[in-house]
Amino acid sequence: MTITQIINKVKENNPNTDTKMLELAYEFAEEAHRGQKRRSGIPYIQHSLHTAFQLAQIKADINTVIAGILHDVPEDTDRTLADVKKEFGEDVYNLVKGITKLSKIKYRGVERYRESLRKMFLAMSKDLRVILIKFCDRLHNLRTLESLPEAKQQRIARETMEIYAPIAGLLGIWRLKWQMEDICFKYLYPDQYKKLEYKYEVEKKAERNQYSQKLKDILSQELDKHGIEYQLEDRFKHLYSIWQKMQNKDRQFDEIYDVFAIRVIVPTVADCYRTLGIIHATWKPKAGRIKDYIATPKPNGYRSLHTTVNGPENKAAEFQIRTREMHEESLYGIAAHWHYKQISGNQVKTQKQPAWVKEIIEIQRKAANTNEFISQLKLDVFGNRIFVFSPRGDVFDLPENSTPIDFAYLVHTEIGNKASGVMINNKIATLDTKLKNGDQVEIIIDKNRKGPNHDWLKFVTTNRAKDKIKHGEKVSRLDKLRRFIPGM
Ligand code: MN
Repeated sequence: MTITQIINKVKENNPNTDTKMLELAYEFAEEAHRGQKRRSGIPYIQHSLHTAFQLAQIKADINTVIAGILHDVPEDTDRTLADVKKEFGEDVYNLVKGITKLSKIKYRGVERYRESLRKMFLAMSKDLRVILIKFCDRLHNLRTLESLPEAKQQRIARETMEIYAPIAGLLGIWRLKWQMEDICFKYLYPDQYKKLEYKYEVEKKAERNQYSQKLKDILSQELDKHGIEYQLEDRFKHLYSIWQKMQNKDRQFDEIYDVFAIRVIVPTVADCYRTLGIIHATWKPKAGRIKDYIATPKPNGYRSLHTTVNGPENKAAEFQIRTREMHEESLYGIAAHWHYKQISGNQVKTQKQPAWVKEIIEIQRKAANTNEFISQLKLDVFGNRIFVFSPRGDVFDLPENSTPIDFAYLVHTEIGNKASGVMINNKIATLDTKLKNGDQVEIIIDKNRKGPNHDWLKFVTTNRAKDKIKHGEKVSRLDKLRRFIPGM
């Protein structure tokens, strides 16, 4: 890896980027790390360059790439953070400082795990870019895991699976998540990995490629006919996610039919829907497999149209239709937002935090200790989300196992406090019913109701509902007291 490769990558993302500082950062880091070697024997600066390259690849902004080159300088050389500040300014300094703080945590046992998770989120809530650097640093460490003793390999792989990969998923940086997971899978379950790799890469590869080519040929003709500009890409599932699917659903490899999909990238949103129509006119869609993540994006912001059709030879074929911008976002997640911001000339700092980051900060603020923080985090953020609809068609996302009361408090505190019944999909249901994806939920309100019911605490899932119920109780107790003690 050379600095030129990184500069080229940065320019590829945005030709107007000034890369002077990047070159200076390289000279600075190269000199600082000179003579140091990685355990594998390669010069240490290679690790810094690989980290920076990966950052450029996920389209991080220039200062993040610079901080990527410098990330191990204060920790491992005699150059200090103050030197970094003097040479590269406040922004780069803050990023390097953030990453240096993070590197002080070591993973040892479950308590440390919780603590490192907490620190990761803390760093993230200050500046998300610190986490991007940490991910890219970790990815290169994983790629060079071979040279470490086995116990250390296992520890790093496990930590990555438990902490890094889920957070990368939350941030929507699928590209990094997949790469990390597949490497860890190989170290944690070597036998299963080898078996699956053989099946996927050797046995079925030719068959899959042939089929995908056939689909692309037919679709190209149709899209040409309708005058739609397009680009087609194969999307292969990564091995770990196939394996997970086999575990979860107890299926054989041959039964996992969505091991690949075809991505159709078109210029506009209107083209996305037109393309969906063209695909459905060509092959019969499978019921229940059409997903409109453009109208209803996933909580991490993912947008696309998905459909599975009955393709040639009566085999299932999945298509994912999206614009170029949606495509970049799906690969690079939060990093892509910055990329688009940069191109449109906006300041990086104006980047708004996604809703779940605010949610995490809120949980962090309230939790009494780390253990509580983690368990709530798992519940509210790491758990799967479902989408439900209000009668007006507004979309609300909730964690799995949420009930109408959770929904009511999400809509409005008063709706929660005065809830007396619920209609789910136009049928009367009980307030403790577990909501399902796509449910339409209408809360029936009793205007005379004084406050929440204590028993609701037994079945609600979200912390928001729990807090509101506890708070509402306090208020209504005070109300009662007031009635007995005039003037209180
Ligand atoms: Mn490093």
